Amino acid sequence: QKKIHEPKDFNIEKIRPPADPATYDRELASIVSLVRNREMHALESSMREFEEKFNSKFLYPYTFLNEQPFSQKFKEKMRSLTKAEVNFVHIPNEVWRKPFDIDTLKEKEGIQSLLDDGVGYSDMESYHNMCRFYSGAFYKLPELQKYRYYMRMEPDVKFFTDINYDIFKYLSGTGKVYGFTVALYDSPQSVRTLFPETIKFLNEGNNSEYLHPRGAFQFTTESRQHPEIHKITGGYSTCHFWSNFEIADMDFFRGEAYSKYFEYLDSTGKFYYERWGDAPVHSLGLSLFADKLKIHWFQDIGYFHFPYYNCPNNEQTKGCNNGQFDEFNDLANQNCMGTWLHFETGVKDVY
Ligand code: GDP
Ligand code: MN
Repeated sequence: QKKIHEPKDFNIEKIRPPADPATYDRELASIVSLVRNREMHALESSMREFEEKFNSKFLYPYTFLNEQPFSQKFKEKMRSLTKAEVNFVHIPNEVWRKPFDIDTLKEKEGIQSLLDDGVGYSDMESYHNMCRFYSGAFYKLPELQKYRYYMRMEPDVKFFTDINYDIFKYLSGTGKVYGFTVALYDSPQSVRTLFPETIKFLNEGNNSEYLHPRGAFQFTTESRQHPEIHKITGGYSTCHFWSNFEIADMDFFRGEAYSKYFEYLDSTGKFYYERWGDAPVHSLGLSLFADKLKIHWFQDIGYFHFPYYNCPNNEQTKGCNNGQFDEFNDLANQNCMGTWLHFETGVKDVY
């Protein structure tokens, strides 16, 4: 078995951990986590692993976001876990909450139909708020304006391989705009009209000029593994980068193409009438408006968020069980990594 040595397209020796992280010349980047007070222990677990594997070597600042005030206990706990700078940001109501123009009758009908389809979290308004916030609001917060790059971190995730280079400098050094670890199919019933609305957006005015000639179009539209999905989504494969781990150049989201795209999607109200996730919204935006060569699979980062792993071939990954994707469950059926590799990167031996 060959071990992987990633990344291959950059002189990694230039971005190794510094001798003294305290005086290190970092990228303008922050680790960002939207989180609730009650998730303190779950987040502590994620942070301990991330500090050990990466951040104690680089000391990138953390930004914790919440629409409720963080408790003193929560703040002290987070500060105790790192030597890096730690910031706590309160999300204003007008950013977080459901907009006033959402039609409550349409919303009720939408939720009922989502519940009938068994779409998770569909009757939790807070979950809809979260998806809308991560789709189109976090990168506009005044407290994040000083940063160009961000990495998203969630409670209860695992990082189980050493990361011995600066992942933010890797993005800036290569000019890449986005990095992910896991790519999946989504529940098609949660995004019934996301793709048709996307097409409507592209057909308005000169919006089609935002399309990148080297977009990841097949990732968003292929139907080889699940031909039935197109009937529900109007042509969207539902393939998406799983956004609970993502590293992004926020200037992509702040740019004209994605900003106008989000504004259009938001104007439909369907973050509430349907249950569009931030992952498919980010992924469609990236696939349409970014150069696919600027989207990076962090193959080398061992990562787990229930129930999926990114499991590199590495001596540190013995505990990470690729058997999760096996004949006894249908998780493999939900893996879209093959589609990404085969259609968008030119790797031809995955099927
Ligand atoms: P899942 O991964 O789709 O099951 O969703 P999660 O429950 O993990 O939520 C995604 C992220 O948003 C996590 O970091 C949560 O802590 C956070 N989150 C979800 N809902 C809320 C909320 O109402 N308030 C706050 N402050 N954070 C939330
Ligand atoms: Mn989660």
